[in-house]
Amino acid sequence: LFLGSRYESTAAASDSANLPQPPAEKYEYQAEVSRLMDLIVNSLYSNKEVFLRELISNASDALDKLRYLSVTDPQLLKDAVDLNIRIQTDKDNGIITITDSGIGMTRQELVDCLGTIAQSGTAKFLKAVKESKDAGTDNNLIGQFGVGFYSAFLVSDKVVVSTKSPKSDRQYVWEGEANASSFTIREETNPENLIPRGTRLTLYLKHDEKGFAHPERIQKLVKNYSQFVSFPIYTWQEKG
Ligand code: ADP
Ligand code: MG
Repeated sequence: LFLGSRYESTAAASDSANLPQPPAEKYEYQAEVSRLMDLIVNSLYSNKEVFLRELISNASDALDKLRYLSVTDPQLLKDAVDLNIRIQTDKDNGIITITDSGIGMTRQELVDCLGTIAQSGTAKFLKAVKESKDAGTDNNLIGQFGVGFYSAFLVSDKVVVSTKSPKSDRQYVWEGEANASSFTIREETNPENLIPRGTRLTLYLKHDEKGFAHPERIQKLVKNYSQFVSFPIYTWQEKG
């Protein structure tokens, strides 16, 4: 099993120069994940809105896991009782944030789940892409397979995942950019970004996709998907 190479970043996050920050660590994507990312980022796939369905379904899965585990361990709920999904749009800056109060991820889970261990679906997807290329057919494979978390890169230049698992007393930040072969992980140190439990995704939309940060557009899409989700989904917008 290839776990990706791991080494200290020389370009550690230095956005708040005054605060001593734990260094960001850089990780290479596993080869299959890298290929998947390439395909997504460079795809001409037109139905890009599937990203929201995928990210809401991940949030819903994370809430389901927490709810299930809390039956035998009610203490898990203590930091945040409400189980919900919150979607915020900032249309002026082209930013969408999706926050859930689900199970979150530990540092190791972040490394494994978002970059170094391809899901079994990834291999099947890549095989289908190759077969359709060989056959000269042009299927909507991304839509058919549902490429999960990485579909965020259909519409985003940069994705930031800040997450807090009840198994850890720390919150961690995953940061990845379209067209990059690596991602970084660091500890969340900005008190404004701390969440009691769960995961917050921040999508920095591509220039041509900023329309997705319009509240009406998100609300319409959410309405379609929310009927399949058993947790409340709240949407709100940045005051203009
Ligand atoms: P899948 O959902 O099919 O497993 P994804 O690419 O959508 O594949 O997600 C990969 C993994 O990342 C998930 O299985 C889960 O472990 C983790 N993950 C993604 N989003 C979240 C989230 N909001 N909260 C907790 N874990 C998440
Ligand atoms: Mg998923």
